[in-house]
Amino acid sequence: MTTDRFDVVLAGGGPVGMALALRLHARAIPTLLLEAQGVPEQAKDPRPLALSYGSRLILQRLGVWARLSQITPINKIHISNRGYFGRTVLTSQEAGVPELGYVVNYHDLHHSMHQLLQSSRGANYQLGAMVSKLTTTPDEATVEYQQHGESKCAAAKLLVLADGGQLAAQIPNIRYHAHEYQQWAVVANVETTIPQSGIAYERFTTDGPVALLPSGTGYALVWTVPAQSVKEILALNDQTFLSALQCHFGDRPGKFIHTGKRSGFPLSLKYAVPATAMRTALIGNASQTLHPVAGQGFNLGLRDAWELSSEISTLSATPSKIGSQGMLHSYEQKRQLDRNAGKFFTDSLAKIFTIDFPVFQTFCGIGLSVLDCLPPAKRFVARRMIFGARG
Ligand SMILES: Cc1cc2nc3c(=O)[nH]c(=O)nc-3n(C[C@H](O)[C@H](O)[C@H](O)COP(=O)(O)OP(=O)(O)OC[C@H]3O[C@@H](n4cnc5c(N)ncnc54)[C@H](O)[C@@H]3O)c2cc1C
Repeated sequence: MTTDRFDVVLAGGGPVGMALALRLHARAIPTLLLEAQGVPEQAKDPRPLALSYGSRLILQRLGVWARLSQITPINKIHISNRGYFGRTVLTSQEAGVPELGYVVNYHDLHHSMHQLLQSSRGANYQLGAMVSKLTTTPDEATVEYQQHGESKCAAAKLLVLADGGQLAAQIPNIRYHAHEYQQWAVVANVETTIPQSGIAYERFTTDGPVALLPSGTGYALVWTVPAQSVKEILALNDQTFLSALQCHFGDRPGKFIHTGKRSGFPLSLKYAVPATAMRTALIGNASQTLHPVAGQGFNLGLRDAWELSSEISTLSATPSKIGSQGMLHSYEQKRQLDRNAGKFFTDSLAKIFTIDFPVFQTFCGIGLSVLDCLPPAKRFVARRMIFGARG
C-alpha cells in the first residue's frame, strides 16, 4: 500500500471539517479531507442551525455564506421560564450587531460547503473514505482508510479529527468526559397563525428547553423531551402533536397550525481532555458535543476550525513546524477559554431550569427579569453568545 503525504490530513467532512479544509485550501496548505459518506444529497439532516453573527463573518470569508439557499435573520431572542414570572429579551441593537444570528438548515450548509470544495481546483476532498486506523509518532500521523473497496494510506505532519468523536479513542492520552442528559431533541418545521417576525423563542421547562427559531415564514422547532417520551411524541399524529406543543409552549407565537416531518436526536455532553495530542488536534463535535440549548455547538466548532487554520497559516514560512508540540500547545491555549465557557454555559442552562423545585424556579424567573433590566449585562451575554468567550 503506497502512502500519500500532506501537511494536514482531516478525518471527517462535516461542516466543521469542511470549513477547515476550505480555509487551508485558500492558504495553499497541502491538505487531504476524508469523509465517510458519499455526496450529501443522499443524507438529508433536518436539524436547524442557529448561527451567530460571528459565524456569518467566518462563513462569508470562506465564500459559503452567499451560497446558502435560505437564511432567516434573528433580531430578537425572547427567553422565558414556563409557569414562572420573569423573562428577558435580547435585541440586536443592544448587542451592537446588525442581527443577533441567523437560522439555516444543516443540510443546506453541508451541501453548500460540499459544492464549494468540489469546485475548488486542486482540493483533495475524498468522499466515501472511511477512516479506520490512526497511528501517531513524534514525526507524523498516519491514517488508513477504505474507499470503494480499496485500503489506502495517507500521512501528514498534523492529523485533525473532525469526525464527531469516534476516532479519538485510538489516540493515546485523549479521554472523553461524558454526561447523558436522558433527553432527546425533537426537531420539525412548524407554522403558526402569526408569521414569524425575526423573534427566536427559548422557553425553559422542567422537561428541558424548547426553542422556536424563525425559519422561512414559520419556525424551526427544537423541543427537548425526556428520553422515555420521545418515541411516543414522534409517533403522534400531526394534530395531536400540535396540540401537545401548544399546551407545552403556550400561545405567545400564535396557534400552531402545521408541522412538517419530525426527527429525534439523543442529547449528551461529551468533551475531550486534552483536545490535542502528539501530531493530533480535535475540532468541532470531536472536541466537544454540547446540548443544543442556546445553539452553541456548530458556532464553537467553527471557531475551532478558524483558530486552527490561523495557527497553521502563521507557519507557512516554516511548514516543518505544522503539527509540532509548540503549535498544538498554542492552539489548545487559545481555544480553552471559549470551549470551557461554551460547555459551562450550555450545561448550566440545560440543568438549572429542569430542577423541579418551585422556590428555585421562582428565583430563576426573577434572575431573568433582573437581567432584562440591566442592558450592560444583556450586552455582555449576547456578545459572548455571538463571538465566543472573548466577546
Ligand atoms: C437537534 C440539534 C440542534 C442543533 N442546533 C444547533 C444550533 O442551532 N447552532 C449550533 O451552533 N449548533 C447546533 N447543533 C450542534 C451542531 O449540529 C454540531 O455542533 C455540528 O453539526 C458539528 O459539526 P461537525 O462537523 O463537528 O460534526 P458532524 O456534523 O457530526 O460531522 C462529522 C462528519 O464526520 C464524518 N465521519 C464520521 N466518522 C468518520 C470516519 N471514520 N471517517 C471519515 N469520516 C467520518 C461523518 O460522516 C460526518 O460527515 C445542534 C445539534 C443538534 C443535535
